[in-house]
Amino acid sequence: SRNMLIAGNWKMNADAAQVDVFVKAVGDALDGAGLAADLLVCPPMVYIERMARALSGQPVAVGAQNIAAEVEPGAFTGEVNGAMLADCRASHVIVGHSERRALYGEADAIVATKADAAAAAGLVPIVCVGETLEQREAEQTEAVLAAQIDAILSQCRAATLESMIVAYEPIWAIGTGRSATPEQAQDVHAFLRAQIANRNATLAQSVQLLYGGSVKPDNAAALFAGADVDGALVGGASLTADSFLDIARAAV
Ligand code: 13P
Repeated sequence: SRNMLIAGNWKMNADAAQVDVFVKAVGDALDGAGLAADLLVCPPMVYIERMARALSGQPVAVGAQNIAAEVEPGAFTGEVNGAMLADCRASHVIVGHSERRALYGEADAIVATKADAAAAAGLVPIVCVGETLEQREAEQTEAVLAAQIDAILSQCRAATLESMIVAYEPIWAIGTGRSATPEQAQDVHAFLRAQIANRNATLAQSVQLLYGGSVKPDNAAALFAGADVDGALVGGASLTADSFLDIARAAV
């Protein structure tokens, strides 16, 4: 009953020419026809509008990788708020990616604030959670994930929770070529859904849970077989249309 979503996170990669090549290839391959899965690409912020305009008429949404915590315009040098992202035709925004948590000091409270800011602007927040290798080896995975998801559930507005997507991205699987196994992904997704159900059983049934971390065309189908895996957040393999669409075609 939940749709599958294949979302690409381009991180700080590509340039305008690569955006154009990607969009042309996606357009040629899809020719306006949708796949079973919904599709989303999140390029660097400065290319959102270029990509969204070029993809108009194609069943591919465009999103952002970051958003200001502040909703109202003002003296926040370098920041871009949700209304501006929506103006550029973004429909989604990734918040709480482990790279932003680790490299830019974004803790649970700011992640929750950014999720609220996204929803307030009509954007769908994709909230990322995930454990480090050390935490997994110390058998702290569930405790870490429970703390991350509980911060969202307790701090965000109800409307934010109703619209959000959650992405499970084990940090040891990101950019390493070492994906979680399908069983590891399904186990964590079932745990996250149960944590959400503790607060809101209806929400737990409807919320999409994406897996991220070294998703490739050759492991996607096995990961998507998990009953609680509703799609993927794809880094490196989303940068070329062929591999992105091959992953998308594995979602049925
Ligand atoms: P990779 O698919 O390159 O491992 O990146 C995953 C990721 O961080 C997506 O947000």
